[in-house]
Amino acid sequence: MVIEVVRIGQRVVRDDRVTTHVALVSRAFGAQKIFMTEVNPEIKDTLDKINKTWGGNFTVEFIDKWKYIVKKKKEENYKIVHLSMYGENINDVQEELRNEENLLIVVGAEKVPREIYELADYNVGVGNQPHSEISALGILLDRIQRGRQFEKSFSNAKRKIIPTKSGKNVQVDETRD
Ligand code: SAM
Repeated sequence: MVIEVVRIGQRVVRDDRVTTHVALVSRAFGAQKIFMTEVNPEIKDTLDKINKTWGGNFTVEFIDKWKYIVKKKKEENYKIVHLSMYGENINDVQEELRNEENLLIVVGAEKVPREIYELADYNVGVGNQPHSEISALGILLDRIQRGRQFEKSFSNAKRKIIPTKSGKNVQVDETRD
C-alpha cells in the first residue's frame, strides 16, 4: 500500500514544531511522502538528516496549492482520507481503508478549508472530540497497518537501534558519513 500525507490549512508557517512532528510521524509510521504548503524550508533539512542517520527514503515535497495535489492524486486513483473530528468514526471505516491501494491522508492545521470535506473520499474522525493532527495521524496510520509498520526496516541507515530491555543499544555503520 502506498501512503502519502498532505498538511493543509492556515498558520502552518507559525507552527513549525507541529509540522515537523507531523512529518516525523508520517515517516516513522510507514508513509512514504509528505506534501507541505507554506512551511519553513528547515523542516526538509531536518527530515533529510533523519533519513541519513536512521535510513529510508521518506520524501518531503513543498507545494504551492494543496488542492492541485489532492485533485492530481484522485486522478491517479488514490483515495483521499481527510482527518477531521466531524468525520466517520475510525472504528467504522478502518476495515475499508485497509483494503485500499493508495491513500493520500490530509491533515489540517488551524483552519481547514471547507472544500476538503467534499473532495475527500473518507472524512475520518479519530474519536469525535478535538485533539491534535499528530495524534490523529499516528492512530490512523497504526489502525490501517495494524502495527506492521514497526516491523519494517529502514534501508541504508547509519544508525540502527537494537531494542533492549534496558539502556540503549545502537549499531553504527562506520562506512556511512
Ligand atoms: N478547528 C479546526 C478545523 O477547522 O477543523 C481543526 C484544528 S485541529 C487543531 C487540526 C487538525 O487536527 C484537524 O484539521 C484534523 O486534521 C486533526 N484532528 C483534530 N482532532 C481530530 C479528531 N478527533 N479526529 C481526526 N482528526 C483530528
